[in-house]
Amino acid sequence: MKNWKKRTKAVHAGTRRSQYGEVSEAIFLTQGFVYPTAEAAEARFENLGADEFIYARYGNPTVRMFEDRMAALMDYEDAFACSSGMSAVSGALMALLKAGDHVVSSRALFGSCLYVLEDILARFGVNITLVDGTDNAAWDAAIGPDTTLVFLESISNPTLEVVDLQHVCAVAHKSGALVLVDDAMATPIHSYAADCGADIAIVSTTKHVDGQGRMLGGIITGSRDLIRGPIEAYMKHTGGAMNPFTAWTHLKGLETLDLRVAQQSVTTMAIATALDSHPKISAVRYPTHSAHPQHELARAQSDTGGTVVAFEVKGGKDACFKFLNGLELFTISNNFADAKSIVTHPATTTHQRLPQAQKDLLGISGGLVRLSTGLEDAGDLIDDLLAALDAV
Ligand SMILES: *Cc1c(COP(=O)(O)O)cnc(C)c1O
Repeated sequence: MKNWKKRTKAVHAGTRRSQYGEVSEAIFLTQGFVYPTAEAAEARFENLGADEFIYARYGNPTVRMFEDRMAALMDYEDAFACSSGMSAVSGALMALLKAGDHVVSSRALFGSCLYVLEDILARFGVNITLVDGTDNAAWDAAIGPDTTLVFLESISNPTLEVVDLQHVCAVAHKSGALVLVDDAMATPIHSYAADCGADIAIVSTTKHVDGQGRMLGGIITGSRDLIRGPIEAYMKHTGGAMNPFTAWTHLKGLETLDLRVAQQSVTTMAIATALDSHPKISAVRYPTHSAHPQHELARAQSDTGGTVVAFEVKGGKDACFKFLNGLELFTISNNFADAKSIVTHPATTTHQRLPQAQKDLLGISGGLVRLSTGLEDAGDLIDDLLAALDAV
């Protein structure tokens, strides 16, 4: 299995078969497991074997298949599957931090990640320093010998800023700090977190892994010592486990992940190109498109820019709402990486809570649109965008 390419791993890694020899992964909808004798129960609680389970909050065979497949795909030793992306992010942070610790994080973050850092962790005595994630000198200045942990989104949501991950990992490791990457935007099939040296990569599997807007899920991937040490201890006792049905739909989702992301990436690049020259649009941001100020870094780190593009409709919120309401094919929603194309107005939805000054700092303007490309025909999508822009 070590030599399998990612596409093969996404279909086969981690498969466990029951005594029936089923082809498609079995779904074990069970909370508990039966022991043949009282002594066997005692032994299992004493020392849990690799293919043994005691309670679904700790682990389940279908969930374990998903964990093993994701670990293989992301090039990490192990993984713990969680009930949502935020369960994974908050669980990993709570598992690894204590009062008095110092965290350095990029400031361009998903709204809920920012809440966990600034509101929850701060309440428990963790000191947070937020930096401009695109500025290597800012990371160098903020990370010191007292820094315990570095947190960042490899590609930020919603403005698609790109972090120089290799640089940040090198600086953090010199200070003995762990690096946690929220890797949702990069997609698990194109993740470069392990390559760059990140200690832990977290993925909201609600996004590309499900890929069809059905299930909430998340996963924490990393070394066996971290995952089966502090991460598992925290997750299994606090109850953020993934349910087996979600793990099963995710296993099926992984089979088509590469095909979907490849097609969606091509379509997203076509949309970025169509919008880049449009007179009613400015600041088109797609990581690997030449209009993105960091496209060289994005191209060096990954062979795709992902499935999301951000841009501004000239004329602010009013013009932007006219544009959004004029779309026929795109759905107004706040998820991304669905088979259905979605448009989001971050300033009034996902990032509404932020004070105006912080929105200004992060570039979350009234005209900003985050567009998630689905699996529809690229020409149909571009026609819809152009028609809605005509009406503005
Ligand atoms: C969606 C998302 C999350 C949260 O994931 P859920 O599955 O919705 O809990 C966290 N971080 C990033 C970058 C995301 O895009």
